[in-house]
Amino acid sequence: MTIDQGPMPCGSLPRRQTHGVRVQWADKLVQIGGGAPVVVQSMTNTDTADAVATAIQVRDLAFAGSEMVRITVNTPEAAREVVAIREQLDKMNCTVPLVGDFHFNGHKLLTEVPDCGLALSKYRINPGNVGKGQKRDQQFGAMIEMAMKNKRPVRIGVNWGSLDQALLARLMDENAARSQPWDAQAVMREALVTSAIESAQQAMDWGLAADQIVLSAKVSGVQDLIAVYRELAKRSEHPLHLGLTEAGMGSKGIVSSTAAMSVLLQEGIGDTIRVSLTPEPGGDRRKEVVVAQEMLQVLGLRAFTPLVIACPGCGRTTSTFFQELADKVQTYLREQMPIWRSQYPGVESMNVAVMGCVVNGPGESKHADIGISLPGTGEQPVAPVYIDGQKGPTLKGDRIAEEFQALLGQYVEQRYGRRA
Ligand code: SF4
Repeated sequence: MTIDQGPMPCGSLPRRQTHGVRVQWADKLVQIGGGAPVVVQSMTNTDTADAVATAIQVRDLAFAGSEMVRITVNTPEAAREVVAIREQLDKMNCTVPLVGDFHFNGHKLLTEVPDCGLALSKYRINPGNVGKGQKRDQQFGAMIEMAMKNKRPVRIGVNWGSLDQALLARLMDENAARSQPWDAQAVMREALVTSAIESAQQAMDWGLAADQIVLSAKVSGVQDLIAVYRELAKRSEHPLHLGLTEAGMGSKGIVSSTAAMSVLLQEGIGDTIRVSLTPEPGGDRRKEVVVAQEMLQVLGLRAFTPLVIACPGCGRTTSTFFQELADKVQTYLREQMPIWRSQYPGVESMNVAVMGCVVNGPGESKHADIGISLPGTGEQPVAPVYIDGQKGPTLKGDRIAEEFQALLGQYVEQRYGRRA
């Protein structure tokens, strides 16, 4: 059994102290909180009742770097297929832990399809939609009981789109009795935090261990998310799952998620993250994994894939060759990582520069581990390469891209290859 999240990078930001929650499948163990590096997770958008499509997407997300993958478990058909999904993944040698996302009927699905609960490594429970009044406690209690019986951790995941209405009404009444009532937004934020904390306490009163609980309280506004998680972090010792819900499409989704989560991560808050991007039609679900990894890497919290430092280009780069080379190099590095990760330890921290002209090209290339400075418009058609800050070969002609790629491969082998 191994934890393969890797060490915290040297000089990493201090993290908030929390319980460590262990999520496991076969020999794959992922730890959330308790000093472990921040975990990247994602969620499928296939119909869980379609076991083949779901297993393929889970495998793709895991291969892209998702350390846990959540699947929705919304119907008896979906619950029955969870075992088949797990079996197919195991056959593909993919031991990524699966997290079951339960709403409304999770108590029934977990009790009526017991194998489903055993094939999952963690349950996500939304306390805002497990029932009303007395039924709420019975149904929430049934899910906690299954988690205890199956020895599975849970995420108590509150969402402002499905906030516990009885709790909100109680807090609004309390607020009305204040001499200086809070505004409605402050009451809503307090309701999210209270719902998560009270639900966790209730689960512990029923016997679930503190180190089996992760909390989240998702909203879609950046400032709301920051305020809610700061409060949660102050009032609880459970690890926190960060994510901006309904972040949106394209650059808006990426920018909003990064803006919100970076502030919190910088303050040491957040033990696992998911970037909830709406894919473009026909888009690639793995993008949410890449964005999550890059967010953690540029913050200096973890390293996953060598990153390309590239200038934006300007009037000095009038051909598309420079953009194409930067894109090719980043794609090449990402594609190599599944093999390089085990062969070349430390390669994920390598910096590669691809620069567009002589203005900043040689300087930035010298700061990188390996860099190339392409000729700008009107400059001599040569591309000097810098290796470990020293001038290396100068490339020219039609095969600059291929030759630079070959130099990259040699550099990785020489610098990160295991010595016999
Ligand atoms: S390095 Fe050269 S091409 Fe790149 S942005 Fe600066 S001036 Fe423009």
